[in-house]
Amino acid sequence: MKWAQVVPDICPRELDFGYLMKFVSRSLTRFVASTKNYETILIGGSGTAAVESVISSVSADKAILIINNGAYGKRMLEIAQAYGINAIEFVQSPVEPINTESLSILLEQRSSEISHIAVVHNETTTGLLNPIELIGAICRKFGIEMIVDAMSSFGAVPIQMEEMNISYLIASSNKNLQGMAGVGFIIANKQSLTSLRDIPPKNFYLNLYQNYKYFLDNHQMRFTPPVQTLYALREAIIETMEETIPGRYERYSGMWKKLIEGLKKLGLAFLVEEQYHSKIITSIVEPQLPGYCFEDMHDYLFANGFTIYPGKLHGKNTFRIANIGAINEQDISNFLMLLETYLGGVSGENIERIH
Ligand SMILES: *Cc1c(COP(=O)(O)O)cnc(C)c1O
Repeated sequence: MKWAQVVPDICPRELDFGYLMKFVSRSLTRFVASTKNYETILIGGSGTAAVESVISSVSADKAILIINNGAYGKRMLEIAQAYGINAIEFVQSPVEPINTESLSILLEQRSSEISHIAVVHNETTTGLLNPIELIGAICRKFGIEMIVDAMSSFGAVPIQMEEMNISYLIASSNKNLQGMAGVGFIIANKQSLTSLRDIPPKNFYLNLYQNYKYFLDNHQMRFTPPVQTLYALREAIIETMEETIPGRYERYSGMWKKLIEGLKKLGLAFLVEEQYHSKIITSIVEPQLPGYCFEDMHDYLFANGFTIYPGKLHGKNTFRIANIGAINEQDISNFLMLLETYLGGVSGENIERIH
């Protein structure tokens, strides 16, 4: 996939590059919806640029209700705040499933004030998979449009936009699609996109309707695209098609299973109950061992070819392990052996302590 970036010099305004863009956008749409009713809009930037594009472009006079059960839900709120957008924060526990009943009750009273609900699918902070299907059904009942940040689920967890009632789905080139970083994208219902026409733009580069319109008229991105990232993305899409999304999720799930079994054997506990795990990224409670230190553990694993993440949840001592990308169960076994060695070394059993 990385070699796909090495191509002869090309002007991204040439016809050939237009074909590549068309292939990329159509294929991304087809992973989750029909190309008849949905369109993919590509934006040069990281995933947050695409999230910002949606949040800043869909709000007119009514409010966006944003479900906050982790750092990425909070980020959507911060975007709304930065633009002075009318938003309602629906605060939920970061470690328990979203209470859809209380969401329904809230909407019984206030749905007339709300035009959109925004939710993160896989809350990457915790590894908690949110029930977008249930939330989509609630949105349907109240005539509200749903925005889903599927950054860390797209390409692995199967999603059907039409059935799930998702108007805007947001992801990027570099997570489960296993491509290079640099492209964020929005897959959206065409009717929803058209309805944005009369909303006065709050920004320039990121305005969703302007980007959509430009793409329709020209079959190109509105501004200079990250050319190499798009070549890599085309290859990454082909690889995803070959593996298929259910196939990829099965591979990830197998690795997750092996990982959590191994972690349990090492006496480690999880932040979120197993049945709610996304099977893509796992939050682990830091062990209470005398010599334990996250940085030391990270450096030891890193020196041996594995990169792990610190926790991102305020006030909880956790670290995170992702099992995505071109890896397999053997990699997980190798990782677990190294982790066992590290934890054995800091458990205190073989440390001489002098007071
Ligand atoms: C990675 C991620 C993002 C976007 O992060 P960028 O660094 O801007 O690519 C947004 N939401 C979720 C849920 C993510 O996992």
